[in-house]
Amino acid sequence: MGHQHWDVVIIGAGPAGGRVATHFAERGHSVLMLEEHEEIGRPFQCAGLVTPNAMKEVGLFHSVLEEIDGALIHGPSGTLVPVGTEGKIRTYVVCRKIFDQGVVKQALEAGANIWLDSQPVNSQVHDDKVVLEVKKGNEIHNISASLLIGCDGAHSWTRRHFKMGRPKELMIGFQAEVVGYENRERWLEMFSGSEIAPGFFAWVIPSGNGTNRIGLWSTAERLEGRSIEQCYDNLLEHPLWKDRFSDVVETARYCGPVPSGMVKTPYKDRVILIGDAAGMAKPTTGGGIGPAFEQISGIIEQLSNAVVKNQLDKKTLHKICNKHFSKMKKDQTRARALRNLLVSDCTDKELDKHFNSFAKPEIVELINKVGDIEKPVPLGMALLKRVPAFRKLALKAGAKLIFT
Ligand SMILES: Cc1cc2nc3c(=O)[nH]c(=O)nc-3n(C[C@H](O)[C@H](O)[C@H](O)COP(=O)(O)OP(=O)(O)OC[C@H]3O[C@@H](n4cnc5c(N)ncnc54)[C@H](O)[C@@H]3O)c2cc1C
Repeated sequence: MGHQHWDVVIIGAGPAGGRVATHFAERGHSVLMLEEHEEIGRPFQCAGLVTPNAMKEVGLFHSVLEEIDGALIHGPSGTLVPVGTEGKIRTYVVCRKIFDQGVVKQALEAGANIWLDSQPVNSQVHDDKVVLEVKKGNEIHNISASLLIGCDGAHSWTRRHFKMGRPKELMIGFQAEVVGYENRERWLEMFSGSEIAPGFFAWVIPSGNGTNRIGLWSTAERLEGRSIEQCYDNLLEHPLWKDRFSDVVETARYCGPVPSGMVKTPYKDRVILIGDAAGMAKPTTGGGIGPAFEQISGIIEQLSNAVVKNQLDKKTLHKICNKHFSKMKKDQTRARALRNLLVSDCTDKELDKHFNSFAKPEIVELINKVGDIEKPVPLGMALLKRVPAFRKLALKAGAKLIFT
């Protein structure tokens, strides 16, 4: 095969890569996705929650396994905080394989191309293009692109090759697919406590046909030498919950990284990072699909025009991306600060106190009114401002966090 030039080459055909490819192909650009696996949507490392906004964008309702109206959130000593309203969908649970394949199929239908079993082995940026050496099967191909987009996930080759920094936090997620758990229909459950999910939470998410996904996430520092599987075992054997898990039978288990905190340099001359590659997952939920979609939709029109003009130097990309990316980064930073204050940096005793405050009917009402899985900051602020028990915390957080 001779040398081929593409307007846009995208490394990685996950949800971010597929969505970016669709946007560009719909605008008439020549697009090539490179995917290292031979199949889209495998390996699977996700709880499968897709927010209504992200789902609306792609309309892949055939991938939905369950609709979720709310969450039953358990404090370390068992205080229950129910958040949600019967019959009002808060989020969808999808089959990630069908979802990812659907996103990539939309890109192909819009005119994008894909090479499976393909990955970059080298790349250099020139004044007018990016050149790439690609290993496709056992062959090496030389191609070039006006714009290279790294959608290659948490351990992004693009990010490392072009030295674009690191996500602020790298959480570890673990999950098992199970049968034999009795859940409340259309509700997921969350469990907290330093033995179960230090600084974060564990979840049980209904995934259709009597199956559930039991998982948890935390950071290496907070695990303090314990393995994440040990915490999972602690959940299943916890005195408060063990009866509920006694009939659980596992059918699969997997582990994966959750990068959160936008990298310092998400764009350089002719190169941009989108999705997990850029560290876009939410610090409060670990959700990365919605933020990846939002990251690209905020810049696509201008970026497409810049590709037409082949003006893709760092200065131009800064003009296009900076406002939108900075806002997303600021939201991430505030959400992380609020998460640390209210949950992650608390001892179990402090967390229990917070749960006692959360469980009051007027606070549950406030959470239901202001709470939005996609925008956790307004809820965190409302809690700090309006809940007397949290006022001290608001002072601890300082004006910087609350009013920036
Ligand atoms: C346990 C767990 C639970 C999670 N639960 C949720 C959830 O409920 N909701 C949610 O929104 N998010 C969740 N996430 C996060 C979510 O999985 C990611 O944020 C999301 O998949 C990011 O999409 P992406 O396209 O950026 O990256 P990925 O989905 O990682 O896709 C990257 C693609 O690039 C390919 N690739 C990588 N390197 C190369 C290379 N060098 N060359 C070619 N191809 C390459 C990969 O094979 C893959 O297809 C969870 C994560 C974990 C670990």
